[in-house]
Amino acid sequence: MTLTKKPDSRPAPNSWGLVGGENPWEYAPAPEATDHIRIEPEYGLFIGNEFVRSKPRKTFTVINPATEEPLAKVAHASKADVNRAVGAAHEAHRSSWSNLPGRERAKYLYRIARILQERSREFAVVESMNSGKPIKESRDVDVPLAAAHFFYYAGWADKLEYAYPNRVPRSLGVAAQVIPWNFPLLMLAWKIAPALAAGNTVVLKPASTTPLTAYLFADVVRQADLPPGVVNIITGPGEIGMELVTHPDVAKVAFTGSTAVGKMIARAVAGTDKKVTLELGGKAANIVFDDAPLDQAIEGIINGIYFNQGEVCCAGSRLFVQESVYEPLIDKLKNRLSTLRVGDPLDKNTDVGAINSAGQLAKVQELVESGIAEGAEIFQPDCELPTRGYFFRPTLFTGVSQSHRIAQEEIFGPVLSVLTFRTPEEAIEKANNTPYGLSAGVWTEKGSRIFKMVNAMRAGVVWANTFNRFDPTSPFGGYKESGYGREGGIHGLGAYLDLSNGTRR
Ligand code: NDP
Repeated sequence: MTLTKKPDSRPAPNSWGLVGGENPWEYAPAPEATDHIRIEPEYGLFIGNEFVRSKPRKTFTVINPATEEPLAKVAHASKADVNRAVGAAHEAHRSSWSNLPGRERAKYLYRIARILQERSREFAVVESMNSGKPIKESRDVDVPLAAAHFFYYAGWADKLEYAYPNRVPRSLGVAAQVIPWNFPLLMLAWKIAPALAAGNTVVLKPASTTPLTAYLFADVVRQADLPPGVVNIITGPGEIGMELVTHPDVAKVAFTGSTAVGKMIARAVAGTDKKVTLELGGKAANIVFDDAPLDQAIEGIINGIYFNQGEVCCAGSRLFVQESVYEPLIDKLKNRLSTLRVGDPLDKNTDVGAINSAGQLAKVQELVESGIAEGAEIFQPDCELPTRGYFFRPTLFTGVSQSHRIAQEEIFGPVLSVLTFRTPEEAIEKANNTPYGLSAGVWTEKGSRIFKMVNAMRAGVVWANTFNRFDPTSPFGGYKESGYGREGGIHGLGAYLDLSNGTRR
């Protein structure tokens, strides 16, 4: 059956009392309130549990990508500030945190998790205002998962010797953590929770466009009464990130972001004894076989690429469809795409919010133009975009070939490239034909085929009959140019420990 139906645009019956011509199926606006949050006009660096000015005093402005309005000024750290922050973390590691029994560290982590839950609405609103992501995602995914990571790693803090039998797990020291703008609070939790559980102290640098929930988190650190210097947060451009990760008193580097910067960091710290984990880009294959439940797969495809505007390292940005179901699947997909609601991130009905920055929007536009120029066929739903802010229509490309840039490069936007295959072998070969290897998805009702595909695909995470599911207990990380090391689960804990010392049996 071919579905070509557009969203219903019939006028309302008179008996509904609507003014003539209104579409009864339109949702009424459902904006989340913002009167319960407080964004300070200016944020200093968070060092030793105090907000301090950068030296020399310098700031930059953070904006709301959905309105292009300024939200706050934040401190622009200098090299001297990096020294101050690492010094505070080093001292806290030496004098307090590394000496605390695991059960005491756990208490602090549980406290942070509970405060995040208590203040979840506030965090969700600030996250959506600063990043552009829909409130339903920050409310239902980012903030609950961030709290779940603190709960999960709190559970490990006093059980390290059980996690690593016959080892004497030791903390490493100061962890330098540089995070991106696509999941600002969640990436903070992925980094800080295991580091603290393992007995390390941290200096975290959020992305310059999205520091506000990190500074809100600084307030949580004080509320939870953490010893000064255990968590430090500094803001500044990429060079400050580089100063931080190469600082001689830093023992562990954890980076999430682009492959280009990941390679620069790897080169800069090569030859030192710093422990490093890099979580970089991706170009995930989402593979649909002809026996898959198509309606379920459609939801997985939509979630895979349009969740968080496609600004997701593990986004299912390459869709591989078995030829025999290509036409019905594309019809259903176009139909479903037309129902996505693009607009105000603070509206609870919004599915696709604002792109994080003007620069990222320009990158998405450039790659989409390359797709058209290289001969792929574009489909975009006929939806209205807000007149201000960095918005982009959910986009679908068919007729894509392996050599197109839109099939090879990470777009990091709401753009899906569709390719086809005939046999499982062809699907595997095409899916693995990428420099990346972060994630993948398989849709089939055949269990044996799932196992075959999972084993054959060079990707750190493979979802079967679902996509973009996250859990603090599951390790996450890449192959090839998607980086190395794992975050999450017990694997993520080991990345913050020195396990070289054994016990005598
Ligand atoms: P970057 O890799 O540049 O930024 C990620 C983090 O690294 C930010 O905190 C950034 O700081 C910092 N940083 C930038 N340059 C350096 C450096 N030389 N040394 C140390 N830290 C540095 O990603 P972008 O924000 O520029 O995005 C570019 C592309 O990267 C995207 O289009 C997307 O394809 C990919 N990306 C992938 C992500 C992932 O999760 N794998 C996340 C984000 C982007 P600052 O913000 O101040 O520049």
